[in-house]
Amino acid sequence: MDVNDLTNHIPGTGDFIKIDQNKCNGCGMCVRICIVNLWGIKNNIAFIRDDYKEKCLECGSCGQVCEPGAIDFNYPAGGTGVIFERG
Ligand code: SF4
Ligand code: SF4
Repeated sequence: MDVNDLTNHIPGTGDFIKIDQNKCNGCGMCVRICIVNLWGIKNNIAFIRDDYKEKCLECGSCGQVCEPGAIDFNYPAGGTGVIFERG
């Protein structure tokens, strides 16, 4: 089953993942750790998909593995973000 079928985004989340491209060293750890494949590397700098707010499971792993601290992850405020409809 596609993970996209399991989640539903609640409006009002705002940007909860920010990337400081000046700090990114292109190591690719965010790409490897993200279970829903929201990250990519272009010109040796990480980017996250534009629609990440609808797909992200808010596990926080990307922020944890980024050694240079290029990823600023903040859990969405209560009552926003992702709800699990099944599972
Ligand atoms: S883990 Fe951090 S430093 Fe490594 S590619 Fe991702 S954003 Fe860049
Ligand atoms: S919080 Fe988890 S699911 Fe969301 S982008 Fe980061 S690693 Fe992927």
